[in-house]
Formats: sequence, structure tokens, C-alpha cells
Amino acid sequence: MMLRIDGSKGEGGGQIVRSSLTLAMLAGRPVHIRKVRAGRRKPGLLRQHLTAVRAAAEISDGKLVDARLGASEFRFTPARVHGGRYEFSVGSAGSAMLVLQTVLLPLCLAEEPSELVLEGGTHNPWAPTFDFLQRTFLPLLALMGPTVHAELERPGFYPAGGGRVRVEIEPVSELVPIDLLDRGEALERRAVASVANLSPGIARRELKAVRSALSWDEGCLRVEEIEGARGPGNVVRLEIRSACESLGEGGSVTEVATGFGRRSATAERVAREACAEAKEYLASGAPVGVHLADQLILPMAVAGRGAFRTQAPSRHTLTQIDLVRHFRGGRVRDDLPITVDRDGATPQWLVQVGET
Ligand code: ATP
Repeated sequence: MMLRIDGSKGEGGGQIVRSSLTLAMLAGRPVHIRKVRAGRRKPGLLRQHLTAVRAAAEISDGKLVDARLGASEFRFTPARVHGGRYEFSVGSAGSAMLVLQTVLLPLCLAEEPSELVLEGGTHNPWAPTFDFLQRTFLPLLALMGPTVHAELERPGFYPAGGGRVRVEIEPVSELVPIDLLDRGEALERRAVASVANLSPGIARRELKAVRSALSWDEGCLRVEEIEGARGPGNVVRLEIRSACESLGEGGSVTEVATGFGRRSATAERVAREACAEAKEYLASGAPVGVHLADQLILPMAVAGRGAFRTQAPSRHTLTQIDLVRHFRGGRVRDDLPITVDRDGATPQWLVQVGET
């Protein structure tokens, strides 16, 4: 039976569309998405979303009805997901990482390995950056079984885009559950200020601001000059790797907080934005930050179990949980419980998928 999803509910943006596609493939259910991004300034399917819709159809031999640029509703009926060689190009500075997010999990569970080339933005505000994917998300996914190797061939910044990422996926038949319940000592800290086609002086100013906000040692700070980007670009990334016992012996989790350089913001402000996110994460004591939280829901639902402690859940996280409830079947167990509870008097929340 065709599932009907109201795209204006909950977070109401592109994430509902992408996660519905992913879950439709995993649950093997056709879906009719209405009111696509209804609350956004430019509603409907933008290039980035349409690329994700077409990518989902391509890897699953799926059928699309009414999926076109600007569409406010469309239907998607997936068939069998098959690995293989694929190229997906957003054709604008829209995030290629979000296109990857849509197809990654189904391809990790396909029968054949995959090799993907994705073109578009790799360091977009309001999307996971390539570095977040590589340092935060993929190592955790690897603990769940699949081997995913990602390589940044060329970065793509807004507005020029033109980034290129190559991804190799060695799939598994099932995902292994993981728990991220504790954050132990900090094992590694790094602040990298990257500039492409811009003065390295910007990056130096950003690192100075990071040093004064976080008091990190000089040895943790690095300027990176990126070659080969199509236009100008600047990001500051703060990496924090911490011990996490619940992941097993020697387990660790890396969080990445990113500040995005832009015309309207000074270098100092960009750095301070990243520092504010990192400080909030550090103060919470939780192992999982706000962005990682919403991205863990789908893999944990497919694994059938998993738990993590995080900061106050975002609307993205709550929307992901709600969507999983709609899409039960196939790889998502019918009676899968998911709970989100305030964890005592701490500023932490506990998200539990399946029975503990
Ligand atoms: P829309 O344009 O409709 O608002 P969108 O398609 O651009 O939506 P969202 O629906 O906002 O995207 O989803 C963004 C995704 O990117 C979420 O999974 C979120 O966790 C992730 N994300 C956003 N910012 C970051 C960040 N700085 N680091 C890591 N992940 C991020």
C-alpha cells in the first residue's frame, strides 16, 4: 500500500524527503510525498533534492511519478536495491553529501559492492561536510559492519560548487547495533581552518579566535590551503575525539563542529560560531552531538537496536524518529520501539532504539 507522507510536518524540509526515500527502499514500500518543503522560502524539490530522488530511483530500479524541479508532490516506488557504479551530479552548489546520505544505507545493505562518484557541494552550511562524514559518521557506520571508503577529490563550496567525492562501499547483510552512552577523556583535539582561493590570513585570524575561545594548544591548530576548488571557500572545523567505552574496548567517537565562511561574516565570527557549537557539545558531557544524533536514527532502526546519549534533540532528530514509525516493514521491524527521554538532572537525553 502506498504510504502518504506530509512533507510539511515536523522539521518540514529536505530531510523528510531524503529520509522517506531511504526508508521506502529499506522497508520496500512505495511512498507518496506531498507538501514537499512547504514551509521553506523556495518550496518544492530543489536541484539537490531532485538529484537525491533520482539517485534513489536509479539504485532501486524505482518508478517515479511527477518528480521534477519545483514539484510539491511526487510518488516513488522502489524495487530491488542493487550495488554498482553510479555517478550523481547535483549540477549546482547543492550538497552532494546529502545525496550520498540518501543512498548510503540501502547500498550498505545491497548484495553487490558499489562505487559512487558524487558531484556538487562538499562543504555546505546546513549539511554534513565531507570531513564530518569521514571523521564522525563513517567510523561509526564501520562499527556497524559495512566498509565505506570516501575520498575528497575536489572540494565544492557555495556558491561555485563543483566538488567531487568518490565513495566505495563494501556492503553487509545486516547491521550490528552500537551504543554511544558515555564520553570519556579527550584523546585528540584539532582545529583546522581551510581556505580555497582566499588569503591564508583569514584562516590565521580564525585560529587565533579559536585559541582565545577554547584555550587549545598551538599544536592543535592548523591552516590548510586547498588547491583545485572552483571558487572561493572557507571553513573552520573543530574535531574532538573522545573515549567512548560503550563502543567496546578502545572505542572512541569524533565530533566535528564546523563554521562556514561567508561574505557577510568576519573570520572571527565564523570561528566563534564553530567554538559555540563545540563548547555546547563539551559542556553537555554527551558523546553524540546535535547533527550526529539525527543521522544515527536510521542506521540504528535498521540494526534493530542501539542507544545514545546526546544534547537536547533537534527537530531533525524528532522528525527522523517519527518517520521511522511510518515506514515499518522490510528492514525496519514492525514493532520497533524508539524512546527519547531526558536523562535525569543532566543536560543529556537518552535515545533508545529497540529493547535494551
Ligand atoms: P531545507 O533546504 O529544506 O531546509 P535541506 O535539504 O538543506 O533542507 P535539512 O532538512 O535541513 O536539509 O537536513 C540537513 C541535514 O544535514 C541533517 O541531517 C543535519 O543533521 C545535517 N547537518 C546540518 N548541519 C550540519 C553540520 N554542521 N554538521 C553535520 N551535519 C549537519
